[in-house]
Order: sequence, then C-alpha cells, then structure tokens
Amino acid sequence: MNHFQRRKGELCCEDVPLSRLAEEVGTPAYVYSKATLLRHARVFRSALRGLDVLACFAVKSAPNLALLALLAREGLGFDIVSGGELFRVLQAGGDARKVVFSGVGKRQEELAAALDAGIFQFNCESEEELQQLSRIAARKKRVAPVALRVNPEVDARTHPHIATALSTSKFGIPAERVLATYRLAASLPGIRAVGVACHIGSQIASVKPFAEAAEKMRALVLRLREDGHDIRRLDMGGGLGVPYGDGPEPPSPRQYGEALVRVLEGLDVKVLVEPGRLLVANAGVLLTRVLLRKQGRGSRRFVVVDAGMNDLLRPALYQAHHELEPVARPRRGAEVVDVVGPVCESADVLAKRRRVHPLATGDLIVMRTAGAYGMAMASQYNARPRPVEVLVDGRSWRVIRARESYKDLIRGESP
Ligand SMILES: *Cc1c(COP(=O)(O)O)cnc(C)c1O
Repeated sequence: MNHFQRRKGELCCEDVPLSRLAEEVGTPAYVYSKATLLRHARVFRSALRGLDVLACFAVKSAPNLALLALLAREGLGFDIVSGGELFRVLQAGGDARKVVFSGVGKRQEELAAALDAGIFQFNCESEEELQQLSRIAARKKRVAPVALRVNPEVDARTHPHIATALSTSKFGIPAERVLATYRLAASLPGIRAVGVACHIGSQIASVKPFAEAAEKMRALVLRLREDGHDIRRLDMGGGLGVPYGDGPEPPSPRQYGEALVRVLEGLDVKVLVEPGRLLVANAGVLLTRVLLRKQGRGSRRFVVVDAGMNDLLRPALYQAHHELEPVARPRRGAEVVDVVGPVCESADVLAKRRRVHPLATGDLIVMRTAGAYGMAMASQYNARPRPVEVLVDGRSWRVIRARESYKDLIRGESP
C-alpha cells in the first residue's frame, strides 16, 4: 500500500502530480510520501502488539533528517551504525535513550560519543570491542548497556550481499564463542550485559528464517540466564522484505509479528526490532527524465535517462529490480528496452531487457520502491551532484535536501 497513484492518467505522489515536482525541482529527484511512511510505521508497530517492543528505524536505509524527524515524532527509536548516524539522529530531534548502536567496527571516539549521549544499547560483536568499550566507559565512570550480537547461523535465503547470518559472515559472534564472550562481558567493569541481538539479513521473503532465528535466540536467552546473566532484552534486527515487483511476495508485517509473538511471548524480555527497508522503501520513488534513445546492435534498444548508478545503486550492486513507469498516461503498446544511466560504467543499467510502454525523449519516468538504500547509497561518481529530495504531504511538498551544486562537488578540495 502506498500513495503513488494515477489521477486522470497522471502519476501523483499523494495529491501532487509528479510532473509538477519535476518542473519545480528538476530531475533526478527522490520523492517521498509522508502518509506512506507514517502508515508503514503504524502498521508495523501494531503488528507487534502483544510484545513489549522498541522499534528502532535503521538509519542507514534512509538517513535524511526530515524522514528521521517524522519517525522520531511517531515514537520510534533508531538503529545506528556510525557516529555520523548518531549525529543525524540527534540533529533530527531523535531520543538518544531509544538508540541502538550496531556495527562490526566502531571507532573509539564513536563509542565515547554514544556513551556521552546516553544511548539505550551497544550491540557489540567481538571481545576486543567489549574491552575497548569497557575501558572508555570506566574512564568516564559509566557502565555501558550491552547486547552481544550473535550469529544464529540461519540461511535467510536472500541475495548473498545482504545475507548476514551465514557461518562465513563477518557479522556477529560465532555460536561456539557466545558463552565465553558473555563471561568476559560480565567480568568487565564498564559493561553491563543486558541483552542478546541478531540481524540475519535483508530483503527476506519468508517468515521462516525469522521464526528459526527467534527460536534460537529464545533458547540462548534461557541458557544465558542459567549461566547467571540477567538477560532482559532481545534484539531481532531488521530484514523484512518488501515487494519490488519481481520475486515472491514477502510476508506481511502481521505475519512477521505473529511469528515473533508466538516464539517470544512469555520470555520476559523487551523485544527490539530494527526495520529499515520495510518502512521507507515504497514510500519513495526516483523521478528521472529520458535524455535520449539509442539503437544498439540488432534489436537492442537503449533508453538513456538522467539518473545513473550513482543516484540509485541497487540494480548495479544487487541486480535489484525496480518497477518503472512513465509519469504521463502510458502510451499504447509495449517495447523491450534497456534503461541506462549516463555513468561511464557498463554496470550502469537501471533496468535490463524490460518490457515497458513506449518511451520517448523528454518523458518523465519513476523508478518505484526507491525510498530505502536509494539516496542513502548515492555518490558523486563521475562528478555528478547528488539528487534533490522532496517530501510530499497531501497537497503540499517541500525540499528536504537541496540538489547538490558543482561547488558541493569540490568542497574541502584545494587545487
Ligand atoms: C541494515 C540493518 C538493519 C535494517 O535492515 P532492513 O533490511 O533495511 O530492515 C537492521 N539492523 C542492522 C544491524 C542492520 O545492519
């Protein structure tokens, strides 16, 4: 469910025609729907009623301050993976006491800043990290609340780049080292081990891996309590998939919630979840314009647009599929084309051999479901200023990040 719909043939975001936005702010542009984002946040949280839940939005999926501020006002916490993301959350008015700090490599100054801010929890992934955090906390006469991120070794059956709980993964503490690592944590003066955490991957298309992970985590909580650790928090990570228009329909938030409630009810833990993609992916589109058409060899036809892999990396990085469609009423008929960007890389293909309504030079098109890991992964590769971001709210809209200028491209450089 999202608020990008056709009215009189023309694609709108809520009550604003996308063609009008293109005129006002140019292309390429990321356009987000406030109503869609808030709806997803509410549906997700109500799916987990029955558990004592803290939902922490994964900042890395869509770090714009305006989006974070909306979610903060909804009462969400935040899952961060860097000091920069902590800075963003605080700038957006987020509550540090609802922040979880994840990641396999945190700098000492990042740990110190998070301690000073008073965050809810550090998710630690190694013995060395525990020792470093303990040292910094003890120096500040503080005790850091810690969950250890363990590797539950479940196959999330997703793209290998976004599976994080295989036995070969760099993430999490391997099962055989978990008990020893908790013992170490318990012995450190600056650490209070309050929880366990996992995150099994992203764009997961079935409930089964989540249920499997929850079973394993439940058993681990009980085992750790036997060992004398007072474990009262269980962080299940993020990873629930969204429909991109290819592949199987992922489970609904309700099915996901039911599975977690079934396994975790009565465990007497606060359950943390870290949704990213699920909340924001189809709350955003990438709006782009056809620069020209080009005939390739034989029947190969290219549609060259003004957005490239630097603006939307997912197709090049993960062979990800994004539905695309014209903003104006679609022309009759169909053709098979490659939609490509202007970047000097053969990987700069937004849609390969895609069946589309006929497209012409100057047409506006949207890449759907681009709200998560879209602008977040954008770069200036090929000296391309990053796109403008716009937030639509009913009939009104505003720029929430200005299009970068050439000056922005050289900021901090000296010839
Ligand atoms: C990336 C990430 C998430 C969010 O994943 P989604 O698939 O966007 O829900 C949550 N937690 C951690 C630790 C992550 O690295």
